[in-house]
Amino acid sequence: MKPYVFERQVQTYLQADVIVIGGGPAGTAAAISAARCGRKVVLLEKSAQMGGMGTLGNVSVFMPIGNVTGIYREIISEMLAEYLPPDHDQSIAPQYSPFLMRQYLNEKMKKEQVQVFYHTEFIGTVREGSRIKAVIASTREGLKAFEAERFIDCTGDARVAIDAGVPYHSGREEDGLTQPMTLMFMMQNTGKPVTPLLPEGCYDYKDIADLPQGRRLYWEQNNDGTLLVNMSRVKANGAKIEEVNYAETEALRQVFSIAYYLQKTGFETYTLSHIAPQTGARETNQIQGVYTLTEQDVVNGTRFPDVVAQTNYEIDIHSPDGKRTTDERKISGYDIPYRCMVPEEIDNLLIAGRPISATHVAMSSMRMQATCYALGQAAGNAAAISLDDSSSMRLISMDKLHAALQHQGVRFLV
Ligand SMILES: Cc1cc2nc3c(=O)[nH]c(=O)nc-3n(C[C@H](O)[C@H](O)[C@H](O)COP(=O)(O)OP(=O)(O)OC[C@H]3O[C@@H](n4cnc5c(N)ncnc54)[C@H](O)[C@@H]3O)c2cc1C
Repeated sequence: MKPYVFERQVQTYLQADVIVIGGGPAGTAAAISAARCGRKVVLLEKSAQMGGMGTLGNVSVFMPIGNVTGIYREIISEMLAEYLPPDHDQSIAPQYSPFLMRQYLNEKMKKEQVQVFYHTEFIGTVREGSRIKAVIASTREGLKAFEAERFIDCTGDARVAIDAGVPYHSGREEDGLTQPMTLMFMMQNTGKPVTPLLPEGCYDYKDIADLPQGRRLYWEQNNDGTLLVNMSRVKANGAKIEEVNYAETEALRQVFSIAYYLQKTGFETYTLSHIAPQTGARETNQIQGVYTLTEQDVVNGTRFPDVVAQTNYEIDIHSPDGKRTTDERKISGYDIPYRCMVPEEIDNLLIAGRPISATHVAMSSMRMQATCYALGQAAGNAAAISLDDSSSMRLISMDKLHAALQHQGVRFLV
């Protein structure tokens, strides 16, 4: 089919020092930290809520990463104080309400003076040489341009970076297959028997081996009768049009089927109470950055002088082949260097969160929410430092970045 050239004059809606695109864990922390450095920060979010997969995808449990620090620590202390560990080097795995998190993050962004635009979907970059001058977004008033000095791509899919020409890869090095997608849902204990319901088109799973992951995986950590279920599995890349289309219908079928199965096998008093508005993507695109985090780094516990985040979360690969297996390998902990967020091609762009420069195996460990908060916090500070020093993002002083992070409560374990 023939390509079209699409040319339009687009009105500039506003100018900022730093524009963050995407309001998930990485974007939230990036925006807060840059704003705390005194910068005018604007965040563009395509949905109606902050929190990314943590709210929209109803992930709603923080996996342990071994260094509860910085803005993530602050969020735990403000929202989930009962889980706050006394020191930074302890792991926690709190389950939370995605609805309360959504409300909390709205208030938090207001307090931090970050201007958030909902229903504002990034669609393209305006590049001038090695810089991005503006991003174009689809808003409720049509296309608008948003100008800034620095941009931080926190879309989870590296949408901004890819549009600006940063090289990237998807999935396993050998065949490009990504981890499967999962539609998270919740059930509520009603305290009395409920009638199981299996809508048309769904599956009547008879035993564990029939389940999409071949296992039961759920959390019921809080005392409010909420069961958080992570049991669907669809072989699909969340950044591909056809695959997402398939995933959204197949995952929903699985959700009703799993709920029906659970209602017959131990959860007789539970009703389906919430299905995430979208199927969660564990893995889509990884940029090619100045440094690529590898499986060896993760397994060997590599330490880097330009460390910006630390985690000891395991290698955790849900089978990209669609099999009912998960490759889970414990590790002792490693650093993620600043260079994984830095593209070679663009001077005023960083990529924070899930799509940093990492191999398929390495990203399976670094993708947890708490790590994405840490990466975002580093990116926000880095953007402010590069503005102060009028330097490219690639060349900022690591001493200054570490000092700024320490000032914002970040502690690195030695
Ligand atoms: C099924 C599943 C289970 C998981 N389980 C856990 C778990 O138990 N514990 C844990 O800690 N982590 C878990 N994770 C991982 C974790 O949720 C994600 O890796 C993490 O949220 C990534 O953070 P992020 O900020 O990089 O991206 P995201 O959370 O994906 O946020 C990206 C944000 O950018 C927005 N966006 C995207 N494109 C655009 C655009 N074009 N314009 C504007 N905005 C845009 C999105 O709407 C979203 O708000 C799970 C993930 C999945 C999918």
